[in-house]
Amino acid sequence: MNADLAKLIELEKVDHEMARLSEEVAALPGRVALIETRLAEHKDEIEKAKTAIKTNEANRRKYEADIQAGQQKIVKYRGQSSSVKTNDEYRALMHEVEFAEKEIRDSEDKILELMVLLESEEKALKAAEAQLKVEAVEVEKEKAEARTRTAEDEKLLAELAAKRSELRTGVTDSPLAHYDRVLRARKSVVVEARGQKCMACFVLIRPQTWQEIRTNEQIVTCSSCGRMLFYDPASEPPAPPESPKKKAKNQPAEAEAEDEVPTEAAPAP
Ligand SMILES: [Zn+2]
Repeated sequence: MNADLAKLIELEKVDHEMARLSEEVAALPGRVALIETRLAEHKDEIEKAKTAIKTNEANRRKYEADIQAGQQKIVKYRGQSSSVKTNDEYRALMHEVEFAEKEIRDSEDKILELMVLLESEEKALKAAEAQLKVEAVEVEKEKAEARTRTAEDEKLLAELAAKRSELRTGVTDSPLAHYDRVLRARKSVVVEARGQKCMACFVLIRPQTWQEIRTNEQIVTCSSCGRMLFYDPASEPPAPPESPKKKAKNQPAEAEAEDEVPTEAAPAP
C-alpha cells in the first residue's frame, strides 16, 4: 500500500480517537455536576421532611394550648355557676361550658391526627436520610471514577498526540494538506471503496479509477466528496455461486482460484 495512504489511515484513527477522548474529558465535569444535583435534591428532601415535622410539632403545641385555655374557661364558668341568679344565666353558662368542651374534643382529635401524620413524616425523614447516606457513598465513588477516567483519558490523549505528530511528519505535505482540509469539512477522510463505490458518498467510481484504487499504490480521491479512497480485498463480496456445477468446471481459471483459497494463502493484491 502507498506509504502515505497507510499512514493517513492510521492518522485518521488517531484523530477520531483523540476527538472521542476530548469529548469525554469535556463531558465529565457535567456528569459530576449532575451527580451533585442529585445529592442536593436528596438534601432538599431531608430539609422538607424536617420542616414538616417542625410544623407538625408547632401545630400540636397550638392545639395543646387551646385545650388548656378551654379547660381554664370551664373551671371559670363552673365557678361562676354557683353565683348566678337566674336559670337563664345558668343555662347560658352551661352552654359556654359545652362549647368549650366541644372545642377541647376537636383539638384532641386534631392532635391525634397530627400524631398519626408525624409517624409517616418521621418515616419519610428516616428514609430520606438513609437514601442520602447511600447516595453520598455512590457520589464519592462516581466522582472518583470520573477523576480516574479523566486522568486516563488525558494520559491517552498525550500518547496519541505524540503518535499523531509522528505520523504527520511521515506523510508527504500535499496529501497531508488534503487530509486536513477534508477532516475539517467532513467527519471521515480516508474511506474504503467497495464494489466500485465510495463507501462515504456512494458515488460510482469509473472503471479505470477503480482499477487504480484496487492497487492501493497511489492516493485516489473521490470525485464527488473528495475523500481519499482505499481498497480492502477482505471486503470483496464472495463470487456468486455458479448455479450449474458443470459450468463451473468449464471455467477452470476462476473456479480453481476460488477453491484454492483455503489451502493457499490469498494472493496479496
Ligand atoms: Zn465519495
